Amino acid sequence: MLPRQRCPFCRRWFHPHPRLKQRQRTCGRLDCCRKQKRKSNQHWRMGNPNYFRGGYALQKEKYGTRSAYRQHYRQQHPDYVQRNAASVRKWRQRLRSAPVSSTSSDLHVTIESEKTSLRIAHVSSTSRDIFVTLDTS
Ligand SMILES: [Zn+2]
Repeated sequence: MLPRQRCPFCRRWFHPHPRLKQRQRTCGRLDCCRKQKRKSNQHWRMGNPNYFRGGYALQKEKYGTRSAYRQHYRQQHPDYVQRNAASVRKWRQRLRSAPVSSTSSDLHVTIESEKTSLRIAHVSSTSRDIFVTLDTS
């Protein structure tokens, strides 16, 4: 068994896998592996600062701007335009008809009242909003 090491992220002791040996840096927990990968990517990017730069300039030179390319593509592929329009229409229709979920995470109610007795007088909804009328009397 290889001598134990300490994980630099969670500080737990671990025995490296016999096949990985000294190359194993972390304890192997998903969280620590991700942190290690992130760190190693950052290190690599520091050594290759221009690797991801300038790609769009080359692309632009070859194909034109993205909007010009898209425009050209749409002119060359009318069947795509039709299919896409149908899909967008369907998506918008579904969005309009979908009821607002009461369990949706963006549903917040803030009550700015000092009164202790509140009564929900009326609830109505559109596809986007829920309106709650409170009776504070
Ligand atoms: Zn760890």
